[in-house]
Amino acid sequence: MLPRRQHELPPTAGLPLRLSDLRPGAPTLAADIAAQLGTPPLQLECSGTACLLIALITLSELQPARRRVVAPAFTCPLVAIAVHQAGLELQLCDLRPDHYDMDPAALRAVCDEHTLAIIPTHLAGRVADVEDALAVARLVGAYVIEDAAQALGARHHGVSVGMGGDVSFFSLAAGKGLSIYEGGLLLAREPALRKQLAHTSARIVPRSVIRECQRSIELLGYAALYRPGGLQLAYGRPLRRALRRGDPVTAVGDDFPLTIPLHRVGRWRQAVGTHAATRLPDFDVQRGVLAQRRLPRLRGIDGVRVMQDPADARGAWPFFLLLLPDPQRRDAALTELWSSGHGVSRLFIHALPDYAYLGGLVPTPDVPHARDFASRSLTISNSPWMNDADFEAICGVLETVLR
Ligand SMILES: *Cc1c(COP(=O)(O)O)cnc(C)c1O
Repeated sequence: MLPRRQHELPPTAGLPLRLSDLRPGAPTLAADIAAQLGTPPLQLECSGTACLLIALITLSELQPARRRVVAPAFTCPLVAIAVHQAGLELQLCDLRPDHYDMDPAALRAVCDEHTLAIIPTHLAGRVADVEDALAVARLVGAYVIEDAAQALGARHHGVSVGMGGDVSFFSLAAGKGLSIYEGGLLLAREPALRKQLAHTSARIVPRSVIRECQRSIELLGYAALYRPGGLQLAYGRPLRRALRRGDPVTAVGDDFPLTIPLHRVGRWRQAVGTHAATRLPDFDVQRGVLAQRRLPRLRGIDGVRVMQDPADARGAWPFFLLLLPDPQRRDAALTELWSSGHGVSRLFIHALPDYAYLGGLVPTPDVPHARDFASRSLTISNSPWMNDADFEAICGVLETVLR
């Protein structure tokens, strides 16, 4: 194994909080982010998954005869849990070979007059093929929900991701860029649909003092420990413990509860996000510059395929998403790098049908490309705390493994 780094690096480049962010202030987080992104008004919810759930319930009331939701077979397990909680039926679409996007032919094969919504997913900050999802949605009369949980700040054709679909959402969870520990922003282009989404939320989302207290304490912990000296305690130790147990699903935090909590986000957490958000545009530029500087080195390693954006897109860069030539060499690289504190990890451990704990919630179609992607991919943090020597050490390991 690569010698353990003294200070643990986070697997994604989150915006670190400052002590001054914790002061009270105006709860204008949603409005401030909308202004930064240049989107219509955003609706703040308690998580990205809560946004998806509210979107699904709203759309299914508009089209009650349509009960099926199509998502990529390699995505966050929370997507499957939200579809289940909305009382809808998940249909998985296989990926394009060697790519995070849904396969166009597979997408056309699963969509029909029963399809309520298609969920193109901007994985790892990379910009997804929303146009193809829109084309299929138009053919069958379905909606498009853009999953931009990992892509706050990503742009396509000069506008924020999320503006192509009918509905979209961003995540403010720990480790996804700007964080209030748990939160989500819901976006709809059409004013009428925005009104309906707000209406659903007002109907089904209660206030909960207990939940908000819990999240506020978690946010304090996050603010205290999301720094070079604190991540070993908050991230590194639990990770290594789970890996020693042979439990990679827990190691990357893929083990979600099967019920999605719904509650209002309180004023204080909104204020914290509002303060931190003033630094977000600069942080995004910094991450982009760092990524563009490091991409050529990664791409130059024989056998490494780095996920990139389509032309006309400028994605967000929380981390790099890589494919290696085969599972053996991917695993060999992880043996060196996963536990060493260098911010190397995996995105999701399995294709959705392969999580034992999701059995019953998820169909089990044959999705060979999604399984292949899960078995050959790894991620490298784009944290500004990763210095050039760290990055070079990681590249060195990849070169050795791939030689
Ligand atoms: C994290 C994530 C979600 C859910 O967002 P939360 O804010 O964690 O509820 C949905 N989709 C993808 C692709 C994600 O990575």
